[in-house]
Amino acid sequence: MTNNNVLSFDHVSFSYKGKKQEKSVLILDKLSITIRSGEFVSLLGPSGSGKSTIFRLITGLEQPTKGTIALYGKEETKRLGKVGYMPQQDMLLDWRNILDNAFLPLEINGFTKKNKKDYVLRLLEEFGLKGYENNYPHQLSGGMRQRVSFLRAMLGGGNLLLLDEPFSALDAVTRLSMQEWLLEQWEKLEKTVIFITHDVDEALFLSDRVFLFSQSPLTTFKEIQVPLSRPRKVEDLLSPELTKIKSDLLHELRQQVKL
Ligand code: ADP
Ligand code: MG
Repeated sequence: MTNNNVLSFDHVSFSYKGKKQEKSVLILDKLSITIRSGEFVSLLGPSGSGKSTIFRLITGLEQPTKGTIALYGKEETKRLGKVGYMPQQDMLLDWRNILDNAFLPLEINGFTKKNKKDYVLRLLEEFGLKGYENNYPHQLSGGMRQRVSFLRAMLGGGNLLLLDEPFSALDAVTRLSMQEWLLEQWEKLEKTVIFITHDVDEALFLSDRVFLFSQSPLTTFKEIQVPLSRPRKVEDLLSPELTKIKSDLLHELRQQVKL
């Protein structure tokens, strides 16, 4: 059966297995989530609450202890390689230069450099990485590495793109231009994006819906529909309606930190 849902979690529970004498801690407890095709959804929540773990489950790096995960409308236990994924810690390969790192997902999907090199070089230029294609990851700043990792996720297969705090190491100006670029690509390529951030403005500017997680283990969340049309401008966040939503969100996040 197919439907319009790109992703659904149906009562998913998960805990990392503890070492011998340690107890394993429950991170997700019967969590259900549905993401529709073409949506842009952000996940907000205190650090350590399990947001990155949700991504590790979606990508198939981890499997639920209970419950099921469906991708593109059908239950799927082999999920590796089916979504574009930018992890919180970039996983650039130290022994590959920047071009070869960016090229990796295309290589996995059977493309050769012969016919795709110019395309990747053009994208590297668009990402402000022109002239660095022959450098190695250790020669790049944190922000540049993030952009390579982001580009690699964009080139990954599938309609679903998982971005884990992708812009956290960027300065404000670069961050805004990357956010605008991301929205353009999202519309042009008709991707579905799930985006983890701790920046309330960023979540509101980008998303159709924001999920605010508060409890641990993650079991329910508060859902905020962002009342802005598209295309958006950063100034849209200054309206009284958005200011109110933002202050409510900040208030809730602050309460959790106090716990
Ligand atoms: P978030 O992304 O919301 O900051 P994470 O999903 O990274 O949270 O982590 C949730 C919890 O799971 C944290 O307590 C973290 O220490 C723990 N955790 C994360 N990764 C692992 C792992 N590979 N093995 C054991 N525990 C982990
Ligand atoms: Mg995280």
